[in-house]
Amino acid sequence: MIISVASGKGGTGKTLVATSLALSLNDNYKIQILDCDVEEPNANILLHLDLNQRQQVYVPIPKVDETKCTYCGKCAEVCAYNALAVIKEKVLVFPELCHGCGACSYLCPESAITEEGREVGVVERGESGNLELIQGKINIGEAMAPPVIRKVKKYIDPANIAIIDVPPGTSCPVVEAVEGSDFCLLVTEPTPFGLNDLLLAVEVVRKLGISCGVIVNRAGIGGEEVEQYCRREGIPVLLKIPLDRNIAILYSEGIPLIEGIPRWREAFLRLFQDIKNMVTAK
Ligand code: SF4
Ligand code: SF4
Repeated sequence: MIISVASGKGGTGKTLVATSLALSLNDNYKIQILDCDVEEPNANILLHLDLNQRQQVYVPIPKVDETKCTYCGKCAEVCAYNALAVIKEKVLVFPELCHGCGACSYLCPESAITEEGREVGVVERGESGNLELIQGKINIGEAMAPPVIRKVKKYIDPANIAIIDVPPGTSCPVVEAVEGSDFCLLVTEPTPFGLNDLLLAVEVVRKLGISCGVIVNRAGIGGEEVEQYCRREGIPVLLKIPLDRNIAILYSEGIPLIEGIPRWREAFLRLFQDIKNMVTAK
């Protein structure tokens, strides 16, 4: 089963939820945590695994053979990302804009374009007992998160329970990370900002046809609007985590919630059972 943990905005407690769920289950199941928050992967701050395997991620970018090129301009015309420009007798390639879609090399009438790899990030992997962590890390200054996320997700083994820590927001990297999940947990706060971002996140998962449920983190700091919205929309609120100084201290010290306050293990086991019931009832 693939469970993604997302939120419309950063800092809502996605990683707290993803790691707590994983650590609650790993006595009985093989668990994969996929940290797809590739700009700032931080699940390992709580898991402390030795990430001893690394694999670079490359995006194929065009390389033009000027001896074959007739400067017809077709490649620049088909590039949806403006990563190519043909100026008189010169083809300019802007590697940072290239998404590696391959359209230019496929459509070049002179077969003048081959591809070469440009490194955009790295995937790191480590495991301990039943728990495996795969995290993506994008190179500093790099904008191309989806290829790194795709590479992280290639490690998913359908025999295991995969828990995806999704990047914040609602843009392409989020869609890339959530797509293919059996269920999406949306972590939010009971504040107007939390509600606003939850609405956007729900829109994304609904467009992807993925069932979702809400976890209210820092419950008690705001009003009832998030829960009222969930009731109206028929979205189950599966768990509420109160605003608690002890939880914040544990997190800041890199201690997983269910290790610092073991009674939370039960709550996350119940959460998993609820998710399982909803997935199998579909
Ligand atoms: S499509 Fe091919 S031949 Fe035409 S300008 Fe681009 S590289 Fe050159
Ligand atoms: S591979 Fe795709 S994105 Fe990159 S330059 Fe060619 S057409 Fe543009």
